[in-house]
Amino acid sequence: MSARGFERLNDEGLVFNIQKFSIHDGPGIRTTVFMKGCSLQCKWCSNPESIKPYPEIMAFDIRCIGCGKCMQTCPVGAISFSEKGREIDWAKCTLCLECAWVCPAKAIECIGTYVTVDDVLKKVEEDSIFYQNSGGGMTVSGGEALLQWEFIRELFKRCRDRGIHTALDTTGNAPWRKIEKVLEHVDLVLYDCKHMDTRKHREGTGVGNELILKNAEKVALRVRTWLRIPLIPDYNDSEWNIRELAEFASRINVEKVSILPYNELGGSKYPKLGQAYRMEETAAPDVESLQKAKETIESRGLKAEIGR
Ligand code: SF4
Ligand code: SF4
Repeated sequence: MSARGFERLNDEGLVFNIQKFSIHDGPGIRTTVFMKGCSLQCKWCSNPESIKPYPEIMAFDIRCIGCGKCMQTCPVGAISFSEKGREIDWAKCTLCLECAWVCPAKAIECIGTYVTVDDVLKKVEEDSIFYQNSGGGMTVSGGEALLQWEFIRELFKRCRDRGIHTALDTTGNAPWRKIEKVLEHVDLVLYDCKHMDTRKHREGTGVGNELILKNAEKVALRVRTWLRIPLIPDYNDSEWNIRELAEFASRINVEKVSILPYNELGGSKYPKLGQAYRMEETAAPDVESLQKAKETIESRGLKAEIGR
């Protein structure tokens, strides 16, 4: 594998997207920085390109003009042509990224770029006027941004020095000693909570919920916190789970709970990464179940909203 892991990084972070004018990742108009690499593997993840902690390729067949440059370049013979067009043998691919560099049509793209804090800061600062007018700022999301905690800590610190509001969107699945250091420069935490039953949590995400719940309590004691629940039909939308989540949120005293409805849009990304989507059978939650979850949360005296 030629791709670099985090261990080789010095002052660089691996980012897969910087989204401007974001209005769903905290208050006001924000710039959201998406860090690549995640310690969870949620079956429903709508950003599967965020999971691997190294750059990879994504193939957009519809853009292919059939020039054959990728096939000529690939050092391991992973690319071929058939009556269906250009095909990638993902089992052979070593993610050397060469095909992405030579493709003239962006039909194969490299996902993930190593950047410095200065690079990101420059982009974030371009929209300072919008943050000031809207009460917005910068949000760092993922993947799990805490995997690159030293990088994001420095990024948050330097945003704060410039008077830019800072928010961290996290699963909380990281050692407390790292989270603690990052929180010193964070104004708001958007904290994901998927399931109160650790067995079900492991089934859906690959890890248990013990550390996540323990960290949530400590985070909410220190920093303004919004709890976020991705509502996944037939996984975490049972009355028991929503009631338990609401009681937990009420006990640790979060400012509000956001219910994020599952959507199938991320499903089309999986084949582009050479992966299978495991949620083919699941549809978005209906309005009634969203409303019911909202009412259950509100019945514990909490502020709840759908979709933010
Ligand atoms: S990234 Fe592209 S060029 Fe490199 S091995 Fe994979 S398919 Fe071949
Ligand atoms: S280089 Fe790009 S456009 Fe040319 S055949 Fe390969 S994927 Fe298609």
